[in-house]
Amino acid sequence: MKYYNINNRAEVVDFETAVLNNVAKDGGLYIPCELPQVNIDFLKEIKNLSFKEISFNIGRTIFKDDIPDNILATIIDKAFTFEPTIKELNEDIRVIELFNGPTLSFKDFAARFMANYMSYLAEKYGKKLTVLVATSGDTGSAVANAFYGIDNIKVYVLYPSQRISKIQEMQIATFDENVQPIEIEGTFDDCQGLVKKAFVDEDLNKKLNLTSSNSINVARLVPQSLYYFYSVLKLIDDFNKKIAICVPSGNFGNLTAGILSKKMGLPVYKYVAATNCNDSFIRFLKTGKFEPNPTIKTYANAMDVGNPNNFQRLYALYNNSFEKIKSEIAGYSFDNNDMIDAIKYAYEYHGYVLEPHGACGYKGIISFKNEVNNSHIYAFLETAHPGKFKDIVEMVLQVEIEIPESLKQCLSKKKNSIKLPDDFKVFKNYLIEN
Ligand SMILES: *Cc1c(COP(=O)(O)O)cnc(C)c1O
Repeated sequence: MKYYNINNRAEVVDFETAVLNNVAKDGGLYIPCELPQVNIDFLKEIKNLSFKEISFNIGRTIFKDDIPDNILATIIDKAFTFEPTIKELNEDIRVIELFNGPTLSFKDFAARFMANYMSYLAEKYGKKLTVLVATSGDTGSAVANAFYGIDNIKVYVLYPSQRISKIQEMQIATFDENVQPIEIEGTFDDCQGLVKKAFVDEDLNKKLNLTSSNSINVARLVPQSLYYFYSVLKLIDDFNKKIAICVPSGNFGNLTAGILSKKMGLPVYKYVAATNCNDSFIRFLKTGKFEPNPTIKTYANAMDVGNPNNFQRLYALYNNSFEKIKSEIAGYSFDNNDMIDAIKYAYEYHGYVLEPHGACGYKGIISFKNEVNNSHIYAFLETAHPGKFKDIVEMVLQVEIEIPESLKQCLSKKKNSIKLPDDFKVFKNYLIEN
């Protein structure tokens, strides 16, 4: 599959180049040129296979010219050591749980696919790669965990000092060896600023092979479509049934991957976007105007994105047609009180513990069902384990939430980050000396 630069349709690159460049020289995002098609008979054939097997079969179609089959099988085997689980809340609503990975958010799927793919690239070219990532929370831990112990790749994770939760910090700051956590005395934007400057610094690029693993990289975007294939094949018993899926969204990578899967032939009747108060996309669906607002802090903090990067990409997949995108994607936004109501309601009526991101997804699918009611199967994604947002969930439900073992372990480890000021010269010297 080839990728084009959104700023210049004529600039076309292969997967490898798109991954290593992260974005085009002029900052443009890469978008798949032409998506491979899978037909319903093929989907019926693979319906009863395991997550790894379905991922391999679909992955082989997507990465046909990019990754040799035996390598793809190894990547999938190493990356996907866990799988989505699907539960029925009642006969109408299903939840697709994507939080079974080591850092307890759906970001593990993509980060681990990317890490294992980059390991293959490092070996293929006999090069050492340096990955820089700025994080405001879940991304950093997923990336750190995914790259930990991978040969020939050094990762620097930059996070804003005192601006992420204790649990989030410990999930990043306790890494060592090939993963170096860096605590920046500044905001998330400052961290991102340092990473951006590093990418355009000639000196640094001569000395190090720099790449990024942020969420706009196609190595994170495209593999996310694999869990949509698996989940829909497990949800659907009759391929004539209409299925609607609600995706809690922030930067809209997850939803974009869902749309890719549909455009490849997965029979999803409707995607529903659910956001918190950062509702630029939802307002766009009403007015046709994309007017991003400054980011607002909410309980669903991994979706606190005022200006979602993937909007452009999503729109381009519909040839920038407002009518088309509006007819295929529905959307709703929710505030903190809505999230609290949803967490209470799901616990009381379904005995199910949601966290704030999934709470938006749950509210979104219910709103869609109440308003439109034209599908047969209604599902939403739960993107994080409730233990990751223990404080909020316990405050709302007044019950104790168990922290999973993998999270407990890092809480007792030693903090290993180095502290740097928000100063590019200092950061650059540090990278060169290490
Ligand atoms: C990152 C994240 C999201 C938002 O995903 P996007 O792909 O940016 O829309 C939602 N929920 C959780 C728990 C996350 O970590």
